[in-house]
Amino acid sequence: MYSSTKNYGKAADFKNDFTNKIVDINRSNAQEFLLYDNKYTKFDIAKAAVTGPLKENKKGYLFLTFGLGIIGSLVFIITGLFLEPIAGIKNNGIYLSEATNRGWVALFVFGFLVSFYILLYFCPYYIVNWTNIVDPLKSMFKEGERASQWFLYGILYCVSMIVMGIRMFIKYRHNSYQIVRTASVLFFQIIFAFLLVEILPLFDLPGVDLKNAWPLDYNFVTDWNVKQHLDAGHLGKFMFVWSVILSLIVVPVMVYFYGKRWYCSWVCGCGGLAETLGDPYRQLSDKRLIAWKIERWTIYPIFVFAIIMTIVVGYNTYNIVYNPSNVGDSTLFGINAYKINEIYGFLIGSIFAGVIGTGFYPILGNRTWCRFGCPLAAYMGIIQRFKSRFRITTNGGQCISCGNCSTYCEQGIDVRAYAQKGENIVRASCVGCGVCSAVCPRGVLKLENASEKGRINPNEILLGNDVNLMDLLNQK
Ligand code: SF4
Ligand code: SF4
Repeated sequence: MYSSTKNYGKAADFKNDFTNKIVDINRSNAQEFLLYDNKYTKFDIAKAAVTGPLKENKKGYLFLTFGLGIIGSLVFIITGLFLEPIAGIKNNGIYLSEATNRGWVALFVFGFLVSFYILLYFCPYYIVNWTNIVDPLKSMFKEGERASQWFLYGILYCVSMIVMGIRMFIKYRHNSYQIVRTASVLFFQIIFAFLLVEILPLFDLPGVDLKNAWPLDYNFVTDWNVKQHLDAGHLGKFMFVWSVILSLIVVPVMVYFYGKRWYCSWVCGCGGLAETLGDPYRQLSDKRLIAWKIERWTIYPIFVFAIIMTIVVGYNTYNIVYNPSNVGDSTLFGINAYKINEIYGFLIGSIFAGVIGTGFYPILGNRTWCRFGCPLAAYMGIIQRFKSRFRITTNGGQCISCGNCSTYCEQGIDVRAYAQKGENIVRASCVGCGVCSAVCPRGVLKLENASEKGRINPNEILLGNDVNLMDLLNQK
């Protein structure tokens, strides 16, 4: 419309053409990106229509919001360092604070996070001014380019992880495992999940997160995703092949050697946010047996759902890419590929991973998504449980039953119960964060990768006066 030479005599004529144009854009979006609603178009229009002081002075507002927020947080965190100059994990008063014991501060943060995710996923046109604030950062990648809600989310994600990552470096400064893995999640988030996603499209390549493996990446075989890789030349095809190799070879082989911690606690963005922003909430994870049961009743069905969706969507993509005449025939076993992809994206990708997974940090703990929902965690968990060299060994005789390990296990594992029995911890859900070991005052717990022999050592005997610990040790 902008480039057309048509003159409009009446506002109503313009409005009519404008509405038709939106319908056209929506249709082409729906075909190209499988979008069935007009929220993205509404977002673009709302963004273009913004007026007022914020639009005139984006950099000023960027400083007033992000800048002051970062400075304030760092002052708060670093002041804490001077108040606690002696290294060692300080969780003092964690159950007395309104922010970390499900008090009113936590409820406020919970309400804010849930509302933010609902706006982000379902009504982004209400947060256009937030995206305007980060326009100056977006145009650093491409002159004149304006930020979408996903760019805003990427910035918020990285900033939260960096600021809270600094807190992690200070809090766990005596523990090299925690320092290195925090540095690792920051590296993968900033370089892979953010910078590369912004930079690759500048070279006409798909802006994808190259560390995302199936089934966490649930758009893996959708027609538009495969098509954009195939259309991007040899490098684009290589990127697609890399995703297949990562998901089907690298992930299981690495889990075999190192357990799922290599991904969940060292690489993954969801895990990275949980370990940094979510660290103050790790004690809130439910340790009851019922929570363990619910965990198995949610995470494995979601994994099965992801497998079925991938087969149906993959079959549809194969049909379209190799037999273009089959466009429209998008069902397998009577399941519509687009519909199942949409349902999965809504229920699992948006509601579970976003709204519940992160929004519920202050209520259910920091690994709600990883523990109850992530299909990649389920996939790796099965391998970790049955075919891996990873375990946490326990020197049971040293345990004083203080319960620190169980309290701070973000996956709700009752670590103490294993420690008391001197039994190795070989659990599908353990993400190998190492915090149980870090908070243990007796050095009972050790994360190890070693021979599979003797790895699973169920021990029903409670250690006590009637058991000779040395005999027990010699039996192993
Ligand atoms: S058992 Fe230890 S290493 Fe595993 S998730 Fe719990 S705290 Fe982390
Ligand atoms: S933190 Fe250490 S001493 Fe305390 S219960 Fe756990 S294993 Fe035992």
